[in-house]
Amino acid sequence: MNEILPGFWQVNEPDNFVNYYLWEWDDGVTLIDTGMPGDAPKIMDAILKLGYAIHNVKRIYITHMDVDHAGSAAKLQQATHAPVACHTVEKEFLEHPLRRKPAPIWVRPVAALIFRLPKFRIQPLTPNELLVDGQATPEGFTVIHTPGHTPGHISLLHKKKRLLITGDALTNFKGKMGPPVALYTPDMPNAQRSIWKLAKKYGDDYDVIAFGHGPAILQNGGKRVTAYASQVFSTEI
Ligand SMILES: [Zn+2]
Repeated sequence: MNEILPGFWQVNEPDNFVNYYLWEWDDGVTLIDTGMPGDAPKIMDAILKLGYAIHNVKRIYITHMDVDHAGSAAKLQQATHAPVACHTVEKEFLEHPLRRKPAPIWVRPVAALIFRLPKFRIQPLTPNELLVDGQATPEGFTVIHTPGHTPGHISLLHKKKRLLITGDALTNFKGKMGPPVALYTPDMPNAQRSIWKLAKKYGDDYDVIAFGHGPAILQNGGKRVTAYASQVFSTEI
């Protein structure tokens, strides 16, 4: 486990493909994303290691319905009895994971087969709390709707801690900032608008950035996203 900020933990090992996080606060601990199917034991271990009981988990945020972010959501919902929270628009995909579509049509039949394999099969679940853009959460996060990669994708901003959790709205594979993976981003223009939103509307509000993929940025995050967004938008739009 890696403590990015006091009380904010990256659960997984550094060589893992996807990141998910634990947030300690007055009321207990909150989980942000749940990794792949099969990651639930690792996450529960991490919760115990921090000194919490499983019932101390107060909420589970799902940034978006993808196998690497919502893969263990149903298992953890059952184990912890914590409410699962996602954007209103994402509810449909948590309830019907096979409706989540990759970008090119030719990938869709392949994806439909892959997501029936046990390793990649997402157990459907019904979220308990539905979020909207701008909503303030009990943990002190502001919900930012960042659609494009999926229709109900969210990022979470903690203004007081100057922290942004991007989900896949913005990636940092091998330390290089970029858009979400194109193959799984059916609406790239909207994904780019979402990056612009993180830069223009919120760029002054955070320094630390925790990504779904890639290492965290610990300093000047807002400035770096603003610089990245300006570069993308001046060349591509
Ligand atoms: Zn992802």
